[in-house]
Parts: sequence; structure tokens; C-alpha cells
Amino acid sequence: MSKPATDQLSGTTSPAQEQQILIAGAGLVGLTAAIALARAGFAVTLLDRGEVERVSDGLLTTALAAGTKRLFDQLQVWDAGALNPSPIMQIQVAQGAAGGQRHLGLIDWSVRDSANGQATILDNPLDNPHATPHAMGYIVENHLLRRHLLNHLQQLGVQMVGGFTVTAVAADDFGISLQASDGRQLRGALLLAADGRNSTLRDLLKIGCRHHDYHQTALVAVMAHSQPHDQVAYEYFMAGGPLALLPMHNNHSQLVWNLPTAKAEAFKALSTESADAFASLLQHHFPWLGQLSLVSAVQAYPLNLVRADRLHAPRAFLLGDAAHGIHPIAGQGFNLAVRGLNILRRELVAARQLGMAWWDQPSLMAADKQQSRQAARMIMATHQLNALFETNLLPIRLGRGLGLNLVNHLPPLKQFFMNQAMGL
Ligand SMILES: Cc1cc2nc3c(=O)[nH]c(=O)nc-3n(C[C@H](O)[C@H](O)[C@H](O)COP(=O)(O)OP(=O)(O)OC[C@H]3O[C@@H](n4cnc5c(N)ncnc54)[C@H](O)[C@@H]3O)c2cc1C
Repeated sequence: MSKPATDQLSGTTSPAQEQQILIAGAGLVGLTAAIALARAGFAVTLLDRGEVERVSDGLLTTALAAGTKRLFDQLQVWDAGALNPSPIMQIQVAQGAAGGQRHLGLIDWSVRDSANGQATILDNPLDNPHATPHAMGYIVENHLLRRHLLNHLQQLGVQMVGGFTVTAVAADDFGISLQASDGRQLRGALLLAADGRNSTLRDLLKIGCRHHDYHQTALVAVMAHSQPHDQVAYEYFMAGGPLALLPMHNNHSQLVWNLPTAKAEAFKALSTESADAFASLLQHHFPWLGQLSLVSAVQAYPLNLVRADRLHAPRAFLLGDAAHGIHPIAGQGFNLAVRGLNILRRELVAARQLGMAWWDQPSLMAADKQQSRQAARMIMATHQLNALFETNLLPIRLGRGLGLNLVNHLPPLKQFFMNQAMGL
């Protein structure tokens, strides 16, 4: 796993470089981090092995939790006109393959639950961070999200460097240097590694990491239906993996279907032979949505859990999937990353205000401690939820049904789980 030693890359730092934050990886997390830090007054360079300005990413949509919207508001990035978000007003969960009823029964969370039966619509949630957000979350198409974040980066004057595949890293007393495969070098005060779950940077920084293969693959696609979804997100927890339909605009929904890998491969192959045959696999689960049809290519994502042993190294910090790549069962990977980068931003700003060396260990260690605690809760929840529903053993099936019903009927428990799901 380890890459070659990087000691040859040391040197002194110019005054401009002394203040520079280098962000390696221009996925959704790197883009958001660049905006958050540039808005806080840091000089930022964002680099990627591909084109930074590319506009499309594999995943079709991302469910943004209400807490993420709140941070976007704070960063002046939330723009409903540009993002065209589709709100999630209700989440319904069922156990097993039961279909036919519109109300799935096991869990039924509505935005109204989060304010004692009163859904409060806020113009500016930051006026009162404890008040009920407008919706439980928002489905946003990735190409719109990416383009919108790129526009902001351009306005903020963030420097973007494409085609820069990092192959070596070296930190010293004066800064940190990156070397690309073509020999180019960049130097700054702090490196943020946002280069995804197979992070090379994590290896170069000699940060260990644990992996778990779920032997599942997520199939992602857009489905059209003849009847409206009423802004409800549906999730079936089935043996083999969960199946979710998330509300998009115009009688469309995003399918996220986690399956044992062999089955997923067979279903993906079926989708290329016959879109109708693929849609008919889903039809009986959602009869109230009318006629279902597949209107996009089906994309496949092999699922594993990746968890870095620590998030910081001298003059470096891991963000996003490079820090923790989690199971998409609750659609929380990006949301968790946004919380993490907000924690880091707060620590860096606080250190700078005190006149301290903000790139130094105390700020990074403090951010690591807080983010690791949050991530541990989320990893445990997603990992165990998946394990719980994967099994077909009768006592566990009964137990999980009771457990989730209990959650549904005990307001404090329900509130706790809702807050986790909404990223609050
Ligand atoms: C099926 C599925 C559904 C999901 N749904 C949701 C959801 O609804 N809500 C949610 O919050 N999360 C969701 N997630 C999780 C979310 O998509 C990820 O957490 C998020 O996209 C991770 O972004 P990232 O920027 O950390 O990594 P990536 O998107 O992997 O970006 C990494 C970047 O680093 C660059 N890079 C890699 N190596 C190098 C190198 N050596 N040098 C330079 N650059 C490099 C790459 O080119 C890439 O641009 C889902 C995940 C899956 C699989």
C-alpha cells in the first residue's frame, strides 16, 4: 500500500505559499471545502488528477441533508434556482419486500414530526439553528451541484490546477510540498486530502486505514412513474440490501438499489437488454406510483467501508471519502464530509483569530477528535443497519421490526434518528 518515500521534496516557503491551503481532489467534497475555506478568507488552490472544471460525475443525484443545506446557506451557496432541489417531506421505510400499500408502515417520518406536529417553514434557518428546517433533505442532480459549486469557485478566485496526479508528499517545518506524476510541484501551508476512498494521499501521508467489503453493489438509475411521489422517499430494507426511491422533479425518482454483487451484475446486464424488464423488477414494490419506466443508464457502485485510522498528519488533514467512505444505506457520505469540513474550518479560523499557526497540530488534532466522534456514530449506524437487514434469521427479523416500530412510536428516539438522518 505504501508509496515511495518523499523526503526529497523539502524546501523553504515564500510568503504567499505560507498562507496557501492545497486541496487535492476536486470531487464534491474538495469543491465544497474550497468554497468554505475561501469564504473564510484563506488562499486556496484546488487540484485534481482530472479536469477540475469537468461538469458531470458518475452518481446521478445526491440527497443533501437539512444540515448540509444550512451550511450551504451560511456559505451563500444555496440557490434554489441553480440547484433545482427536490425536497424530501416524508420518509417511509418498510421491512422486507412487502408492496402494494402506499404507507409502508415500519417507519413513517414526516417533516412535521420534527416540530411537534408543526412544520415550520423558515426563510433563513440560520436565524435559529434549532428550528425546523423546511424539508428533511433535498435531492439535487450532481451535474447541477457541481456546475454551481464551480461557478462559486471562479467568483471567489480559487486557483484550480487540473491534470495534477499527486505521487509524492513532503512536510517540513516551513510547509508541505506536492509532486505530480509529470514532475510539477506545488507548495503550501496545509494540505487537505479529498482524493476519494482509494486515497493515494492517505498512503503517502502514512495514515493507515481499515477496509470492509460488503460484497454488495449499488445500482443507481432514474425511474419515471405515471403517478406523483408527493415528495416522499421510500426505502425497503430487504435481505440482500436496501432498495430506495428518492423523489426528483416531474414524476421522476432516483433508484438506489443495494444488492449482492452477482445479482446486481445480472440486473445491470438485464437493464441494457431490456429497460422494461428491469422496470418490471421494481413495479410490484411501488404500485401507487403507476407505470414505472427506466429513463437512464444503470450505474453500478461496488460497496465497501473505508475508515482512516486518524484524520491528520503534520500539515495535512483527510476529508470526505478519503477519511471515511461509508455504506450509502442512509445517503450520508457527502453530508458527513460537509460536517467534517465545517469542523475543520471552525478550528482553522479560531486559531488564526488567536494569531496561532493555524496549520499546526493543535488545530488539526482538535478537528480530528470532533469529526472522528461524529463519523464513528454514522459508521456504526450505517454498518449495523445494513448487517441487521441483510440477515433472514427469524428472531432477528422479529427484533428489527419491533425495534424500528419502537423508534416510530417513541418521540425522543424518533427525534434522535431523524436528526441523524437530517444531519442536524
Ligand atoms: C450509490 C451511492 C449513493 C450515494 N448517495 C449519497 C447521498 O444521497 N447523499 C450523500 O451525502 N452521499 C451519498 N453518497 C456518498 C457520496 O457520493 C460520497 O461520499 C462523495 O461523493 C465523496 O466525495 P469525495 O469528493 O470525497 O470523493 P470523490 O468523489 O471520489 O473525489 C475524489 C477526487 O480526487 C481525485 N483524485 C484521486 N486521486 C488523486 C490523486 N492522486 N491526485 C489528484 N487527484 C486525485 C479524483 O479525480 C476525484 O475528482 C453515495 C455514494 C454511493 C456509492
